[in-house]
Amino acid sequence: MPIVKKREIEQLAQMNGEEIERFLKNLPATKDQMDRMFDFIEDKLDSQPCNHTNRFTMQFVMQNMMDFGKVSGWLSQNGGYCDCKILEEIAPYWRGYFQQDGQDT
Ligand SMILES: [Zn+2]
Repeated sequence: MPIVKKREIEQLAQMNGEEIERFLKNLPATKDQMDRMFDFIEDKLDSQPCNHTNRFTMQFVMQNMMDFGKVSGWLSQNGGYCDCKILEEIAPYWRGYFQQDGQDT
């Protein structure tokens, strides 16, 4: 399965301020919600294996009244087709960028 286009999440580290702003604006939820969603999925997958659906993502989205269509669309565009893929393909880039960028909260 060749990936032709570079995923947006992979480009995060190379983005300039304006691009980051646009990236944040286009997120399907707030940055804080996304942060917590990755942590939530990680916690869940600690105790249960991924069944290769995005059930934990969906659970988090429902609990937080987020827009599942938007969230899952964004995740699959970035290679997160199921819960374990989200952690593998998206969370490292996300955390690599945002967590070294200063925790102001
Ligand atoms: Zn999986």
